[in-house]
Amino acid sequence: MNNKTEIQSAQLRQLLSVSKVSLIASIFLATILAFMQRSVIPATDLLVWCFFMVLASLLRGFHVYSMLHSPVNDAAAVRARLRIFRLGVVVAGAVWGSAGFLLYPADHPQYVMFLIFALAGMTAGGVASFSADLISAVAFSLLISLPISIRLFVAGDALSVTMGLAVSLYLVFMVASLRRINRNVYENITLRIQAAAREGKMRESEERYRLLLSHLPVGIFHYDTNLVVTYCNDQFADMLHNSVDNIVGLEMKLLKEQSILPSLRKALEGELGYYEGHYLATYSDAEGWVYMTCAPSLDGSGKIVGGIAIVQDVTEHKTAMEKINSLAFYDPLTDLPNRRLLLDRLQQALASSARSGKEGALLFIDLDNFKALNDTLGHDMGDLLLQQVAQRLIACVREDDSVARLGGDEFVVMLEDLGELDLVAAAQTEAIGEKILATLGKPYQLAAHEYRCTPSIGATLFNGHQLAKEELLKQADIAMYQAKKAGRNTIRFFDQQMQDAVTARVLLEGELRKALEKQQFHLHYQIQVDRLHRPIGAEALLRWMHPERGLVMPDQFIKVLEETDLILPIGKWVMETACARIGVWQLDSLTRNLTLAVNVSATQFHQPDFVAQVQAAVERHGINPVMLKLELTESMLLKNVDDTIITMNALKDIGVQFSLDDFGTGYSSLQYLSHLPLDQIKIDRSFVRDIATDSSDKEIVGTIIAMAQNLYLDVIAEGVETEEQRQFLLGNGCNQFQGFLFGKPVPIEQFEAALKQR
Ligand code: C2E
Ligand code: MG
Ligand code: MG
Repeated sequence: MNNKTEIQSAQLRQLLSVSKVSLIASIFLATILAFMQRSVIPATDLLVWCFFMVLASLLRGFHVYSMLHSPVNDAAAVRARLRIFRLGVVVAGAVWGSAGFLLYPADHPQYVMFLIFALAGMTAGGVASFSADLISAVAFSLLISLPISIRLFVAGDALSVTMGLAVSLYLVFMVASLRRINRNVYENITLRIQAAAREGKMRESEERYRLLLSHLPVGIFHYDTNLVVTYCNDQFADMLHNSVDNIVGLEMKLLKEQSILPSLRKALEGELGYYEGHYLATYSDAEGWVYMTCAPSLDGSGKIVGGIAIVQDVTEHKTAMEKINSLAFYDPLTDLPNRRLLLDRLQQALASSARSGKEGALLFIDLDNFKALNDTLGHDMGDLLLQQVAQRLIACVREDDSVARLGGDEFVVMLEDLGELDLVAAAQTEAIGEKILATLGKPYQLAAHEYRCTPSIGATLFNGHQLAKEELLKQADIAMYQAKKAGRNTIRFFDQQMQDAVTARVLLEGELRKALEKQQFHLHYQIQVDRLHRPIGAEALLRWMHPERGLVMPDQFIKVLEETDLILPIGKWVMETACARIGVWQLDSLTRNLTLAVNVSATQFHQPDFVAQVQAAVERHGINPVMLKLELTESMLLKNVDDTIITMNALKDIGVQFSLDDFGTGYSSLQYLSHLPLDQIKIDRSFVRDIATDSSDKEIVGTIIAMAQNLYLDVIAEGVETEEQRQFLLGNGCNQFQGFLFGKPVPIEQFEAALKQR
């Protein structure tokens, strides 16, 4: 509906709404008039007028009634109805106007007066009733008043003319004021329509906001200056496990959680308020973490009338953050701080030690034989043990001290605020270390199993920032290894020499790893001879040609190779090189009958595929296996006698020979020697060295030789340096020799050159 139609429609509505009353009033007045004039007006005139009056009233009544009961909206219909209404008004006006002639009793001035009075009244009533429509009102007034004025002027007498003038003036005045009344009514209607439109728009926007607020993923509430909630959305109610109805009207001053109030009040002071923290609902079980922003709420004049708060439930986010934090800084199995957090705390401890001058200590704790527990009872039991160890460690120290788990079975205890003197701090640390040893040494109940376990503890002291935190941890670690070395279940303090040795060892290990690929390993060959000094074979001995240190002997590095399993690839290389050499020797009559002895380490020998490796090397170089002699030591044979015998027999089947190296230094019993498929026993250098002077060594060597003869084994003496030694050995039945007396271990070229010279 456009604006004009709307106004017309409102006009029409107003006209119709007063029409009922005005119609009734009009009929009433017409009846009185007819009744009054009956005695002075001819009956026919009266009847005619009454007839038209009834007809006009019925017509108008019918129209008004039907229009009131079937409202229309479209512009054309509204205009049509307005026209019909006006027509009705004109008809009614005309009928009333006709009374000015038909009911005019010329000879009865009082009745004329009454007639004028009635018509003037009707005019005034019409003006009031039809003020909404200027056309209707003017037409009605003119139609009623003009005829009577004319009639009065026509009468011609002074009184009538004067009255005619008065009526005319009255009419002019009526029409003049009618314009004003109509303008007011018109404005009224327009304002009403505008207000209604504005109200509609407001309702619309209100609805839009309501929708928006109720669908926002955050909680929102509004409160007044007394901190009473005046509005809240569903989300906020949900957050509090409550209903909107319960929350609106709530006095927040009475809340259990008062910590949110300052930020709410801040908004009432015209600023933005923030709150981030835990929340505990007062009227429900709701609880969680929230983030809230409060802003002032202003009225039209800019006065603060309350505040609006936007609340976000950050509980999930918070829990996730806590979880991440815990994963990043705590060990999930024991809930102890992890390495990262420990280093962080150590950093702080160093700073506080620098300030206070008091020493601190790190205890590096490693459980002895933990791997065995995992292997035998399973990882679940291992986990249980670690948890219990964690609890016991916590119980051993003060609350200010830290217990951390680095991983596996490694724990670290950090002590702070010890004495200012090294000696005092060390004594305190030792005391706590002993306490830990005692506590962790007590039996553990792991489900149905009772389990005993001991720790090895390495300790180091710290004082201020002298050392980096990683360095300190390394020191404690090194000390722990010393404790392990010292037989476990004990505590050891770090010292510098130990550190130097460890540093050197780490360096060596790194260099050894690269030595093989850089081809820094070589084999030296040491001749072995018979009683007549005739060459019978050689022993291959490993040498490391270090780019800076020059020739490095095996005692400097063999142990490291064995501990790191580097011995496996290097041992393989030795085996290959030795077999290749035998292959070359086979082609030369000078060397064809020489055996070559190769030293084999325990780890190498106990590899599951060792036999296959040897067989492959033998086949690859197409050598006579009898020329290859494997040197084993007593200790490695004792490790797992049954398996050892199986392996040895398998190798024997290939055809290789065995020599028992360094014999006499181990615990070999004659009994088991007889079970091993040995070919030779090699008397250790230490006995040979002193046989000339030491009578007990003489006896031992004599016994060894006799025993070997009993077992039908060859005997070779190593480390023979003097003729005296050779004579003694020869005299006791030893016919094979190796030692500087016959030749030092030398590179292959030198070795072969010496052979040719013989
Ligand atoms: P080993 O098998 O007992 O080797 C004999 C050692 O005695 C060699 O030391 C040799 O140089 C030394 N020697 C020989 N005759 C004399 C002598 O008359 N007087 C003195 N004082 N010493 C003599 P080397 O070469 O330093 O080897 C030491 C140990 O390293 C070897 O003892 C052996 O156990 C190990 N080894 C050497 N090469 C290898 C290898 O390729 N693999 C393995 N697993 N171990 C090896
Ligand atoms: Mg040897
Ligand atoms: Mg030896």
